[in-house]
Amino acid sequence: MDLVEESPYRFRIDRRDPMRVPGVVYASPALLPDAGSDKSLEQVANVATLPGIVGASYAMPDVHWGYGFPIGGVAATDVAAGGVVSPGGVGFDISCGVRLLTADLDRAALRPRLDALMDGLGESTPRGMGRGAVWHLGDRAELDAVLRGGSRYAVERGFGVPRDLDRCEDRGAVHDADPAQVSARAIERGAGQVGSLGSGNHFLEVQAVEEVYDESVAAAFGLRAGQVCVMIHCGSRGLGHQICTDHVRVMEGVMPGYGIDVPDRQLACAPVTSPQGRAYLAAMAAAANYARANRQLLAHAARQVFARVVGCDLDLVYDVSHNLAKIEEHRVDGTPRRLCVHRKGATRALPPGHPDLPEDLRPVGQPVLIPGSMGTASYVLTGVPDAPAWASTCHGAGRVRSRTQASRAVRGHDPRRELAARDVAVRGASRRGLAEEMPEAYKDVTAVVAVAEGAGLCAKVARLVPLGVVKG
Ligand code: 5GP
Ligand code: MN
Ligand code: MN
Repeated sequence: MDLVEESPYRFRIDRRDPMRVPGVVYASPALLPDAGSDKSLEQVANVATLPGIVGASYAMPDVHWGYGFPIGGVAATDVAAGGVVSPGGVGFDISCGVRLLTADLDRAALRPRLDALMDGLGESTPRGMGRGAVWHLGDRAELDAVLRGGSRYAVERGFGVPRDLDRCEDRGAVHDADPAQVSARAIERGAGQVGSLGSGNHFLEVQAVEEVYDESVAAAFGLRAGQVCVMIHCGSRGLGHQICTDHVRVMEGVMPGYGIDVPDRQLACAPVTSPQGRAYLAAMAAAANYARANRQLLAHAARQVFARVVGCDLDLVYDVSHNLAKIEEHRVDGTPRRLCVHRKGATRALPPGHPDLPEDLRPVGQPVLIPGSMGTASYVLTGVPDAPAWASTCHGAGRVRSRTQASRAVRGHDPRRELAARDVAVRGASRRGLAEEMPEAYKDVTAVVAVAEGAGLCAKVARLVPLGVVKG
């Protein structure tokens, strides 16, 4: 893959047939994926062939190999010009995302009760591959209410407070979700999992604010140095996975009829305005609402443990997805256009002044939540004016070692003990599960965030360090 270094932190993949637009990769030379073991830059070029794509096919600094689209990929298509939506541009874990809550508690005051707190959180957080969930739904009608109402419905039912919704992307629910577009198999997989973490990379982490880079933005977010926080990362479990599988299959079948030819079957897609495009977006919205309710419920369970063990409440800083397609208005060559913006392993980062922000965040921009790893750090950033890539940035550190490589690399080590030596208390997760998720499996989150900031995608607000983690 030929890359042209356009400016520090920005590389271009020149357009060549059948690409419709160039590729743009935000990276430093050290962060560029290793072409021998990771085909994500070829995927950036493949995405550039999608009908209706505008601007460029973008890669964020945490880019790595994914299904069809790279993880860390952003692409927007022009809805009125035959632009397509591709389930592979959202990924299998629809609306997987992160929420951050703050406690009115300092790290030093928590220290003597950290173990008890972690025990409580470990017990109250359903996790792993199987079933078990915070919420035991009454019937199908109740699951449909979750699929339509997301966090809003969870709050209505007492799992949270109305203020939470001000701090949720889309105020807690995506419009136009249609449970009728969700297959019986997806419903079956999702029914018993509302309010559960899932496995692997999903986590509930107790963190402390280690450093504040921008005091005034941090204050607007409700963050201060030394403060205890809770970060929750999870998604739409088996329901989202099944919806992606179902709709990829449908689109594979109809693509030829629309005259669409893609270089990789995993880029299956259909025009946004076609029946199949609309059906996918309606099902995707249902899965997104499921994921948001999921994070709302896990936060509720964590709040109960905090109240019981340390006697304090948790305030929501923000909840944002990093796997989603959204219809948004952006200027293309100076004219406003309706675009279908795919962000896969990428976080929306609204600039200050954006009308979709709640009033108290409007002067400072949208909180961007970037988990790093359970042994290193995570970051809070904010959206900046004139951000490129349709106001998007990275979503994590990004994997550098496959799960198999990572677990092989720590053979003979004891991950739990090594984390304890770093002062991180771990609950849940098998030895293998932990091995796959050790900090060495990921890029250096500090380097990733530095590139994201240097490229003008977002700005640093605070760095958080882990105190304890409940792993899926
Ligand atoms: P993904 O959404 O791609 O599964 O994961 C997002 C990011 O979460 C990863 O790129 C990685 O940097 C981060 N991550 C994975 N596990 C943990 C964890 O246990 N704690 C923290 N803080 N971050 C994690
Ligand atoms: Mn996920
Ligand atoms: Mn995720």
